[in-house]
Amino acid sequence: MMRRLETIIEMVGSYHPEDNLDLIGKAYVFTAKAHRGQVRRSGQPYLSHPMEVGGILADMKMDAITVTAGLLHDTVEDASIQIKELREIFGTHVADIVEGLTKISQIEFGSHQKRQAENFRKMVLAMAKDIRVIIVKLADRLHNMRTLEYLSPEKQRRIARETLDIYAPIADRLGIGWVKNELDDISLSYLDPQAYQEIAAHVASNFAAREEYIAKVTKIVSDELAKEGVPATISGRPKHFYSIYRKMHDQQISFDQVYDIVALRLITDEVKHCYASLGLIHSLWTPIPGRFKDFIAIPKSNLYRSLHTTVIGPEGKRVEFQIRTEEMHSIAENGIAAHWRYKQGSPADESIDPKFTWLRHLIEWQQDLKDPQEFLDTVKIDLFPDEVYVFTPRGEVKAFPRGATPIDFAYAVHTEIGNHCVGCKLNGRMVPLKSELKNGEIVEILTSSRHVPSKDWLKIVKTSRAKAKIRAWIKKEQKDRSIAFGWELCERELHRCGLSPAQTLKGKQGVELAKRFGFLTLDDLMGAIGYGKVSAKQVAAKLLAERAAEQPAGQENGQAEIAPKPQPAAAKKLGAPGGVKLDGIDNVFIRFARCCNPVPGDSIVGFITRGRGVTVHVHDCPTLLDEGVETERRVEVEWVQETSGERRPMKICAVTEDRTGILSEICSAISASQANITQANVATTEDNRAFHEFSVEITDLPHLRRVLDAIRKVKGVEWVERARTRPTRSRRALRSYLNRRQIKA
Ligand code: MN
Repeated sequence: MMRRLETIIEMVGSYHPEDNLDLIGKAYVFTAKAHRGQVRRSGQPYLSHPMEVGGILADMKMDAITVTAGLLHDTVEDASIQIKELREIFGTHVADIVEGLTKISQIEFGSHQKRQAENFRKMVLAMAKDIRVIIVKLADRLHNMRTLEYLSPEKQRRIARETLDIYAPIADRLGIGWVKNELDDISLSYLDPQAYQEIAAHVASNFAAREEYIAKVTKIVSDELAKEGVPATISGRPKHFYSIYRKMHDQQISFDQVYDIVALRLITDEVKHCYASLGLIHSLWTPIPGRFKDFIAIPKSNLYRSLHTTVIGPEGKRVEFQIRTEEMHSIAENGIAAHWRYKQGSPADESIDPKFTWLRHLIEWQQDLKDPQEFLDTVKIDLFPDEVYVFTPRGEVKAFPRGATPIDFAYAVHTEIGNHCVGCKLNGRMVPLKSELKNGEIVEILTSSRHVPSKDWLKIVKTSRAKAKIRAWIKKEQKDRSIAFGWELCERELHRCGLSPAQTLKGKQGVELAKRFGFLTLDDLMGAIGYGKVSAKQVAAKLLAERAAEQPAGQENGQAEIAPKPQPAAAKKLGAPGGVKLDGIDNVFIRFARCCNPVPGDSIVGFITRGRGVTVHVHDCPTLLDEGVETERRVEVEWVQETSGERRPMKICAVTEDRTGILSEICSAISASQANITQANVATTEDNRAFHEFSVEITDLPHLRRVLDAIRKVKGVEWVERARTRPTRSRRALRSYLNRRQIKA
């Protein structure tokens, strides 16, 4: 028996008389045509499914737009109708809901571990921009559960599991109690049919005695309330099977122990009568301590309100009461949907979970129903505005703060993956590491053991975990560098003073020396030297002074001992990069300044940077001059060989006339000279000139000259030179660079 269109329209009309009921009729005709000839597993015409979904939505007391979307919900996925067509015929709201449903149906619920389920639920909620998408989804799922018997046993179990893990809790969260209970119970009947049958049999066998008892208690309470003038209807409240099942399992108790409790519901008209009824019940029978709960004063996060109490009733049986008003009852049953109807409802909102502020907005909106646009704004609230949910390649869901990047993801998976991540694929497509993660994306991190974190990542990442891990890595890295550099400086100084590092620093002596400078280990002392807190001269001076005190005068230790050089552990790890040697000693931490980017062939100078080893600049680099570097911190460096063939980053600036095609001509000139271009910036001026800045990769000085010559040959190039400033990104920075170079723009 299929639900009839007239019944659905009548139902919606009964609670929403003003609504656009014609829309529902139109949707019926459309969906009947779209699904014509299609048959469900049950053998029924396919149309029966959307009709039932529409009917369930009417049972939930939803508005015409939602019911219409329910009737149309499968036309896009299963009857190849275009969203565009729905939008034209039924308007944006209906089309948006159907589109949202199609998106959710594409989520694969791979893993069903407990901790995953919560993230899946949030993802479903987060993906729906309009809360009505979720409500239609629940109606769809409810009808599919009601007709689950026609599917294969495997599918039955999978869908039942998913319903229990994902959809029943969502119904609960939205406060739609009856949908939650029915989803729970049908799921249980497929997941543990035996337990389900047992509970059903028990409930049936106790039925008569129980009804009799309920009638007795009801009469006593009703009579007493009537004397007080409190209007109330009392009814036995069937416990749903799944809650009995859960109690038996969680508390390891028998059916009788669970079912022993008689559950009654008392519905009255006003809040004050709720408390009056409670007082009366407590005066009739003894309440059980700890069982009284006031969800009227403090509503649950899904806005559920009621008074709960359990008393020792007649014959010593426990009787559980739920006391509430008509309005509270409607909210308990229909949740969010109830708010479409109750205009005066305004709960004690201070206690509502912040995640449910949207519910509060909905209630506020109730006070002014006239404006349809306002209505739309209210239901289109992002349920989790601060979070984003993505998948790992294995189908796990991970939650991140909005704006999080693949680097955050990499660190959430494992510190090592974070430390070595080089790239990322989102839904199989390569993206930069600074991209923002979006709901539902599959994130795959590419790693390389040679790659290490960059300081710039700190500006990109959003999670504190990633930040802490990157900082820790940088700190460790700096410490290692400082220690190794400290060793170098110290050994050099000792050699200069005619002391043997191997002898003076070995074993106990080394540790003793460190202690005299206030450090626990020799590496700590070396780190301090490398960092510049202690100087190598101080160490050498101390050793010389001690030696002089130990040895009689005249027996100066003149001959240098030929001892093998010690290889401190930290220093071994790091090689001399880029073929530069420091004052004849190798094995020192060298990096190339980003301002002048030296290449082999350049005349270079080293500059000791606290905690970072030696930075190599071109000898006339403006930065060095600007900073007025103390000569003490300068060290002599030289290239080991004139060229190593290694490509180095470098910036080139050019001023040209501003004509079409000049940029591509310069680029091909650069490429033709075997140099890679990694970035190009152009700024134009009013007098039709263009300033270019290229980031290129060059092997050595002769190579650079070839590239510059090639650029000069391009028609319209006025001048070109190697850039000598910090990297410029913006047009403004480029101009200021040119101003400094005294070129009039
Ligand atoms: Mn469906």
